[in-house]
Amino acid sequence: MKKDCLEIVRSKCEKCMACALGKTRKNIVFSDGNPSSAKVVFIGEAPGEMEDETGRPFVGRAGQLLNEFLAEAGISREEDIYIINTVKCRPPQNRVPSDDEKAACRKFLNAQIDIINPRAIVLCGATALKSFVELDKKQTISKVRGQWMTINVDGKDYKAITIFHPSYLLRNRSMAEGSPRRLMQQDLKNIKDTILPEIDHSQDCNEVVFMETKEIAMV
Ligand code: SF4
Repeated sequence: MKKDCLEIVRSKCEKCMACALGKTRKNIVFSDGNPSSAKVVFIGEAPGEMEDETGRPFVGRAGQLLNEFLAEAGISREEDIYIINTVKCRPPQNRVPSDDEKAACRKFLNAQIDIINPRAIVLCGATALKSFVELDKKQTISKVRGQWMTINVDGKDYKAITIFHPSYLLRNRSMAEGSPRRLMQQDLKNIKDTILPEIDHSQDCNEVVFMETKEIAMV
């Protein structure tokens, strides 16, 4: 049922030209993961070159690094998580998506979260974080990461946590105590220990009936 609902959203997304990014994309980058079994939604920034080519999020060098960290933490990319981006089309030269572009794409992001109905949302990097949380000047990602909080998406509260974007870790290779890579290990272990032990995959096929209003919400 979740897959069917997501296909409806995807088909709308494939036709979307609501912002300028639609003119230069090769492919929309809609999602990755198993919507029936995923209990955590990971939200990244925007597609890069490899993602634009393949139509899958987190497949470039940053994605490969994320895979390594996930595997080390015992989190299955294929079963435990569902990965999406704040915008579905690649910004030219991999620039940060503008507020207008994020706002134009928000309906897809919100619909995906609503359909997946995750136990937790993981915000990967500053762009994803700022899409949901208004930060004051003292609140850098280094200070906010690793802390559980509640975010509201379309009127519904979700448990959420921020982690570094894996592309940041490509530029910070140290494994010293307190380094970004060590903190990433710590944060993913936190997510695994807090959210994933509760998973009962026997319930995966017993999905509740999803609202017919999903499609209405997308119109
Ligand atoms: Fe549409 Fe989102 Fe692509 Fe912009 S980025 S064209 S809003 S799908």
